[in-house]
Parts: sequence; C-alpha cells; structure tokens
Amino acid sequence: MDLGLAGRTIVVTGGSSGVGLATVRALLDEGARVATCGRDAGRLAEAAAALGTDRLMTQVCDVRDAEAVRTFIGRTAAESGGIDGLVNNAGQSRMKGLDESTAEDWRDELELKFSGVLNPLHAARPHLRASDAASVVNVNAVLAKQPETRLITTSAARAGILNLSKSLSAALAPDGIRVNSVCLGLIDTGQWTRRHAAAGTARTYEEWQAALAADRGIALGRLGRAEEVAYAIVSLLSPRASYITGTAIDVCGGVGRSIL
Ligand code: NDP
Repeated sequence: MDLGLAGRTIVVTGGSSGVGLATVRALLDEGARVATCGRDAGRLAEAAAALGTDRLMTQVCDVRDAEAVRTFIGRTAAESGGIDGLVNNAGQSRMKGLDESTAEDWRDELELKFSGVLNPLHAARPHLRASDAASVVNVNAVLAKQPETRLITTSAARAGILNLSKSLSAALAPDGIRVNSVCLGLIDTGQWTRRHAAAGTARTYEEWQAALAADRGIALGRLGRAEEVAYAIVSLLSPRASYITGTAIDVCGGVGRSIL
C-alpha cells in the first residue's frame, strides 16, 4: 500500500537514536523528506552518515529551548517549502520513586515532557495548517495509563501529555491537524542498554532483557523493537489515516493492562 508520504516533509525530534532513528529511516524509505534534531552533534552526524541521503536535514537543538526549536523548524520549512508532519519523540524517562524525587526532578521532568510537545508544536503549527494532510504524533508510554511508582515523575508527566494530546486533537481539528499518540511499553533502545550497563550485572544484555520481560509481565515475552514502533508512527502520519485523531495506540507487546 502506498502510504502517500513520498515528497512530504516530516519533523522527528530525537532522531539520532532508538525509536526516533527508526522512524526517520522508515519515513525516508517511504520517500519523505525528514528533519531531525538532538542535543549531541556527534550522534546526529553518525545517524546522518548511516542513513546517507540528501532528503535528511539535521540540527543540534534541545527541545526544551523554544528559540532553538523555532530556528530548527523555521529552517526546515524554509528549505522544504512546508511541513506535513511532526513526531514529538525526544526525551527519556526518570527511574526514581517518590522518596528519591526532588523538587528539581519534578520540575525537570514536567518541563521536558511538556516543552517537548509544545515547543515543536507552536513552531510547526502555521506550517502544518498550510498542509493538506497534517499529522502530529506524540510518543508516549503505557505509563500514562498504568503508572509505576518506580517512575513516579515520568508516569505523572506522561498522563498529563496524554490528556494534552486529547485537547490538542480537538483544538487543532479546525486547522485540519490530526493529533494522536503512541504509548510504548519496553522498547529495546539506548535507554535499556544504558540501564543494563548501569546495573553492573553479570548477565548478558540478552539474559537481562529476558528476565526484565518476565518480571514486567510482557505478554509477548520480549522487549519491542524500535522499527515496530516506527510502523505505528508512520501509519498515523500517513494521509490514509485521515479520519484518525485524538487516539492512542499501545505498542507494548501486551504489557498494558488498560482496556481504555
Ligand atoms: P533513546 O535514548 O534511544 O533516544 C532518545 C533520542 O532523543 C535521542 O536522539 C536523543 O539525542 C534525543 N533527545 C533526548 N533528550 C532530548 C532533548 N532534550 N532535546 C532534543 N533531543 C533529545 O530513547 P528511545 O528511543 O528509547 O525513546 C524515544 C522516546 O520514547 C522518548 O521520549 C522516551 O521517553 C519514550 N519511551 C521509550 C521507552 C522505551 O522503552 N525505550 C518506553 C516509553 C517511552 P541526544 O541525547 O543527543 O539529545
């Protein structure tokens, strides 16, 4: 099936690694032009070299910095002639419970999650409004609906972003902009390789992952792959998904227990 993304321009924040990188690759495979950002110039350059295409634009930009995001999005629109899609993916989670979470942790977590959606959205909105197939996808987590005390700040922030995504879908519908979410379970990316390294365990990464999947009760018995998330994101970006807005798709191997 032709997803109708060839020649369209999509912004993906945090595309130098994991889910963002897999999404950039999938969009390029569909013939789209892609712009992506991250904080680390070296990682961005490495990703760009691996992808090897002139349909990819990269820029160092922290999504918490509204001015830098405006510059990044403005440059994308100027070079591409418009923007059709936005994937708010950049970020990370904070593995801390109630007693370890300081006031700074709460502030930083809420700032990252909310500015990570709102800064790119505000900057891209005029360009999305001009597109005939505008779509925003917010990368979220099943934690939004199924909080974990060991990730207390992230769970609360994720719930807020899911709520915000619903409001945005209604607020932006008159502009012809669809807004949806993907809610991830445990996806095998840099986040988990870093945690394996930090755990100082004698188990190999594969053994550690298998134990993690069993401990968390993942129905499919394994962590997800970044490409499996990219598939859901790209589907929601496609003009063929023109009647889907305000919804959230779980990509979690069955770890989500919520029926809503
Ligand atoms: P990775 O750590 O593999 O990739 C994160 C990407 O975001 C990198 O490109 C990173 O680049 C970039 N990034 C991080 N912070 C910022 C920032 N402030 N400004 C701009 N870019 C930033 O993570 P994943 O692919 O695993 O995660 C992608 C998204 O999915 C995140 O929002 C994460 O919280 C969410 N998620 C992931 C889950 C998982 O199990 N993997 C589970 C649930 C949600 P750089 O560091 O150079 O800035």
